[in-house]
Amino acid sequence: MTASVRILTTSSVDSNPAILLVEPDGSKILINCGEGSQRSFLDSQQRVSTVKAVCLTHLSYESIGGLPGMILTASDVQNATIENAKAAAAAKVRKSNNSTQLLPPFPTDTAQGLNVFGPEGTNSFLKSLRHFMRRDSFRLNVHEGLVEGIRVCLPKTRKRKSGQPVSEGAFFSVKSFPFVERRIGDRKRSRTLPERKTLSYLFWTPRFPGKFMANEAKRLGVPKGPMYGMLKSGNSVTFSDASGEQRTVTSNQTVQPDSPGIGVAVLRYPEDFFEEQLLVFFKQMTMKRVISSVGVELEIAIHIASRSSFGDKIARQWRDEFPSTVQHLLLDTDISADSHGTPFRSAAHGALCRSLVCPDLYVQVREPNTLRRPYGPELARAGSEFVLLPRGKVGFSDFVDYNIDDGKEKARTLVKDSGASTLAKELLAECALCVNESFSGELFFTGTGSAIPCKHRNVSGICLTSPNGNSILLDVGEGTVGQLLRANSGPTSSTLAHIKAVWISHPHADHHLGILRLLHDRKAPDPLLLMCPSPIISFLTEYCSMDSDLSSAYVAVNCNDLIRENAKASFLLKEALGIDSSFAVPVTHCPYSFGLILEGTCFGKLVYSGDCRPSSQLAKCALGADLLIHEATFEDGMEVEAALKRHSTIGEALSVGMEMKAKCVVLTHFSQRYPKVPPTPVNHEGSIPVIFAFDFMRLSPSNLVMASKVTPAIRLLYPEESEGRQGAETEAESIMAIPGLFAQSELL
Ligand SMILES: [Zn+2]
Ligand SMILES: [Zn+2]
Repeated sequence: MTASVRILTTSSVDSNPAILLVEPDGSKILINCGEGSQRSFLDSQQRVSTVKAVCLTHLSYESIGGLPGMILTASDVQNATIENAKAAAAAKVRKSNNSTQLLPPFPTDTAQGLNVFGPEGTNSFLKSLRHFMRRDSFRLNVHEGLVEGIRVCLPKTRKRKSGQPVSEGAFFSVKSFPFVERRIGDRKRSRTLPERKTLSYLFWTPRFPGKFMANEAKRLGVPKGPMYGMLKSGNSVTFSDASGEQRTVTSNQTVQPDSPGIGVAVLRYPEDFFEEQLLVFFKQMTMKRVISSVGVELEIAIHIASRSSFGDKIARQWRDEFPSTVQHLLLDTDISADSHGTPFRSAAHGALCRSLVCPDLYVQVREPNTLRRPYGPELARAGSEFVLLPRGKVGFSDFVDYNIDDGKEKARTLVKDSGASTLAKELLAECALCVNESFSGELFFTGTGSAIPCKHRNVSGICLTSPNGNSILLDVGEGTVGQLLRANSGPTSSTLAHIKAVWISHPHADHHLGILRLLHDRKAPDPLLLMCPSPIISFLTEYCSMDSDLSSAYVAVNCNDLIRENAKASFLLKEALGIDSSFAVPVTHCPYSFGLILEGTCFGKLVYSGDCRPSSQLAKCALGADLLIHEATFEDGMEVEAALKRHSTIGEALSVGMEMKAKCVVLTHFSQRYPKVPPTPVNHEGSIPVIFAFDFMRLSPSNLVMASKVTPAIRLLYPEESEGRQGAETEAESIMAIPGLFAQSELL
């Protein structure tokens, strides 16, 4: 029987603290689900579908930014599992050639849904998601505020062939500790921020039963058989011994005493460092209160806190109350140190390799030169694991830190051995002179994959920066801000304020879940111009009623109002970005889907399709475009699939480009079927330069030709892609394989 606590992610520019508690049956409890949680799962070879419960310490993008996506994936995996199981059962019946045989009953534990624990307001947040996503067949069991002694994951109902239920082993129960943070806001503006309700948690297992001593039972003359079972379950037995005398043996004589269960505490300190808040927190969260009445041995206490709060004298005194055997671990909430680097290692490795091939086009991620361990052994590292069971192995398991220098060396070797650099030099020989040194604006791709954030490609996000340094985001999928901050290009944390406008093409979750973090972190005096479809406006209005800080952070313009000239948007775009005009064109995908035409950008007339079927209307309205960015979810030959899911194939995207007489086409939004490199077009005469987008690709008006020529060299980096994919992508693929998913209006 094994159980453990793992640190899934820590605070960094592209991740937030998240913890995994793994039960003996493999069920996982996720504590906080910030943006990128699904990517972290894929990167560490784990399955999102094994998460059976999510516990939130507070409600903010740091803890819930990845929750909508997690719910969608968990629900889709559940549906896929049910469909597969039904198909398998039907096939079995067909094989047995007995048409009268009934289908076997469907195992109910595959349709368990997800338990969600969180502070007051969790229900309202989940309800607000209905504006853009619906999963009616997926159960969310929400427990708000105080809970005492609830089992965290629903019990499995698996049975053995004999019909006996499978023994459950240890499982975790949970008790929550609500706390109200009274936050003090901007003193200059003399305002007080609203209260924030937070939760700390104690998780524990039941007491462990003592071991049955068969030898002792034998010595006492107990006959083998059912009486052993009675003794094990705590009863006494009476029997006739060899001399015919009646004897009674009690359970205590043959079973070792039971031992206390194990406990894990997750303690969320008040966010801002105000001594009086910490004092109140520590007074409430006494050791006695944390574990009283539960009767457990606390093995580990994870403190979600800033370093200054954790290191404060009163915090240390408070921790001294805990038994000395408790392991304390700090999950630092301060992202500015970024001492851990990115948790998305696969994506960072890919970006590094591409940047070694062509640094003008591909940006490598920004990481600390050497990963430091600046705060002693108590500082939690992403990927580290604390074993809870078996009891003989309690403690940290061996953990090897990622070594940035080794990673760089590996990338250099791969690039050299692949021949990609040599080929790139040949391909780009005549382009070298085109490169312009001065900044004349750029397009930066933060996410070029579709549907769900995966290891190598994040979901949709493009940052168009004008020569004056101000930017507009074309879609803002989950993790977009993290990708921007992680890149050695585009805005830095101090310049998120330079993002002046956001365009959201349609209400699918892979195009807008990053908006909450942007609104929260942008911190600019001028509100963001948010051009988005009406369901997103409704969602944000409802969300802001829970987080009123954000309501003044944006000015919304409905995409529908951009079909004709919109004075407000035109004025703001001209003033902030120098863009002459902006128009929305309705396209065929899901309800409220729009393409965008921007005139007067640094690329000239720029068109962004969003997700759509090939659109003659878009081609007509944007005739003669200088640059078309078009979705190309599927490879050529998958036209039926593309039509069914209301997306485009590569060939269809290029034909829109031809019809539009576009001067250059950038393809993006590739299905996660193609995790690393997009497929090659089957028939493309080459009359238009075609650029394949990768995450962390940077295009400038002067390097478009270069970008259109370099792809064959990049393909050399991924020879395995043509040999089929495996492993961690399977879950993403199984979801992609469901016909119509992510494109059916009744689902999303
Ligand atoms: Zn999409
Ligand atoms: Zn879509």
